[in-house]
Amino acid sequence: MTTYFNYPSKELQDELRSIAQKIVAPGKGILAADESVSTMGKRLKDIGVENTDENRRAYRQLLFTTDDKLAENISGVILFDETVYQKADDGTPFVQLLKKKGIIPGIKVDTGVVNLMGSEDETTTQGLDDLAKRCAKYKKEGCDFAKWRCVLKIGKNTPSYQAILENANVLARYASICQSERIVPIVEPEVLPDGDHDLDRAQKVTETVLAAVYKALNDHHVYLEGTLLKPNMVTAGQGAKKNTPEEIALATVTALSRTVPAAVPGITFLSGGQSEEEASVNLSAINNAPAPRPWKLTFSYGRALQASVLRAWGGKKENIAAGQQELINRAKANGNATYGCYKAGSVKGAARDEGLHIDNHEY
Ligand code: 13P
Repeated sequence: MTTYFNYPSKELQDELRSIAQKIVAPGKGILAADESVSTMGKRLKDIGVENTDENRRAYRQLLFTTDDKLAENISGVILFDETVYQKADDGTPFVQLLKKKGIIPGIKVDTGVVNLMGSEDETTTQGLDDLAKRCAKYKKEGCDFAKWRCVLKIGKNTPSYQAILENANVLARYASICQSERIVPIVEPEVLPDGDHDLDRAQKVTETVLAAVYKALNDHHVYLEGTLLKPNMVTAGQGAKKNTPEEIALATVTALSRTVPAAVPGITFLSGGQSEEEASVNLSAINNAPAPRPWKLTFSYGRALQASVLRAWGGKKENIAAGQQELINRAKANGNATYGCYKAGSVKGAARDEGLHIDNHEY
C-alpha cells in the first residue's frame, strides 16, 4: 500500500478553513432551503399553494428578504439549483441578497438517491459525474459551500456493510471534488429515524456510520478543517418511546466524540422530522452535554426552521411579514440553543409543536 499524497496548497486550506469557521461562528447556523422542486411542492401543498416556479420564487423571496438581523443567527443558506438563478422582484439575484446581509450562499449538489441492488431498500446518492464542473460554476455564482445527503436506514439487517461503505465512499469523493473547486463540503450521512429501535441502537449505528465516513474522508485526503458534518441527532426510532433531551444529548455527543476528529470545525445537525420546539430543545441540551465537545455544535435545519414560516405565510402577500417574523424567532431560538441557553417553550410558532416526520424522507 502506498501512502503518498499532497495536502492542498496553503492558500486553499486557508480559504476552506475560513469559510467553514464563518458558518459555525458562535450563535449561528444554517437555513436549509434546498428542497427539490417536488419536495417544495409537498410543503406548498400543505398550505394550499400550487407548486409553480413563481410560487417557489415568491416563497424563497420571503425567506431571503427577511430583515438583516436574520444574519445574527443565520450564517449560511443552502439553495437548490433553480434558486441560485432566481431574482427578487427588484431584479437582485437571491445570491446577492444573501451576500449583502453577510449570509453565505451554499448549494445542494447531490442529485438524489437510487436503490442499491440486492439490498433491503437501501440507497446510495448520485451526482458525482459532472460534479467538478458544477462546483466550478456554483463557485463563480457566489456559492462557497455545498451539501450532499446520503441516507442510512435502521432495520433488522440494515444498515448493511454494503450501504455503509458505499455511502461513506461517495461522501468522501464528493468532499474531495468540492475542495478541489474551493467549496466547503458539508458531509451529510443521515441515519433515518424511521423504525421502532431504541436509543442505544441508534447510537451504535450512528457511530458505525460516522467511523466509516471519517475513514473514507481520510482515504481521500479530505482536508477536515475545511469541512463540516451534518448528522442526525441520536434519537430512538419514530415508533419508539421518546427519550428526554438530556438522554438524546448524551447519546448524540458520545457517538460524535467517539468518531468525529477534533479537526472538524463544526457539526451542523439536520432536524430530521423533529418539531421546531424539539429541535431547539435538543440542540440546547447537546450544547450542555457532559461529554467531550471539541467542535461547534449548531443547526442546519430545513423543516424545523420553516414549518411556522410556511404556516404563517399561507401563500398570501399580506402575511409575508408574519412569515419573516417566524423565521427570525426560530433562528434566534436555535442561536440561543448553540450556547445551551434555549429555554423550552419560550418561542412559540404558528406550527406549534407539531411533529414534522415524513416516512423515508426525501429532500
Ligand atoms: P431537515 O432539517 O428538514 O431534516 O432537513 C435538513 C436537510 O438539509 C436534509 O438534507
